[in-house]
Amino acid sequence: MGDDTRTGTRSTMIACPECDALQMEPRRIPRGTSVSCWRCRTVLIHEPRKGIDYVFSLIVTGSILFLIGNAFPLVSLEAGGNGVTTTLLGAVLHLWGQDLQLVAALVFVTTILAPAFDLAVMLYLTLGVLRVDAGRTAEMPPFSAKLLRAVQVVRPWGMLEVFMLGALVSIVKLGQMASVVVGPALYSIGALILILAAANSAFNPREVWSRLPIRQDDEVVA
Ligand SMILES: [Zn+2]
Repeated sequence: MGDDTRTGTRSTMIACPECDALQMEPRRIPRGTSVSCWRCRTVLIHEPRKGIDYVFSLIVTGSILFLIGNAFPLVSLEAGGNGVTTTLLGAVLHLWGQDLQLVAALVFVTTILAPAFDLAVMLYLTLGVLRVDAGRTAEMPPFSAKLLRAVQVVRPWGMLEVFMLGALVSIVKLGQMASVVVGPALYSIGALILILAAANSAFNPREVWSRLPIRQDDEVVA
């Protein structure tokens, strides 16, 4: 193992997180199958059925839906001859203007910032994996490991589905008082929730980890 880290070649040994049994990591794992520990049968590696190109296509679709979700109106309200149309960012600014800065900041982080970061990082990483696989470059783009960790921390803050639920309840309630027209952004956000869930379940972080070079600097912590 020590020789592996010095020469930069990949280690093929993995340890079971449950029983610590060391075992050889198979070089190729067929899609849709799992590798279990020889001793306790804990699943060590699960290879999703779909490849990284499928995740990439989902992320590209998600990014387009995100742009539509931010550029177009969420809802249009009309009551007593007055019409109001709002976008996602418009709703945040409106909350801020109403002296609800904390709520505005929470809505901004959970519906705009966190999903944008998630989509941008996933686009960056999946594109990196595809470029390495296509032989265009030998290495993953810079900061891949840091971004992969960061996206796993930021992802739980993306709460588009909570926002969606709140928006739907408000629309039903407001529908009794005013005429409400659901805008294209709300449909896009609805579709984006499904696309993000599909992309996250199909994405295997091993696709990134296995393409990163073995660290040469502080690989051993004394
Ligand atoms: Zn085990």
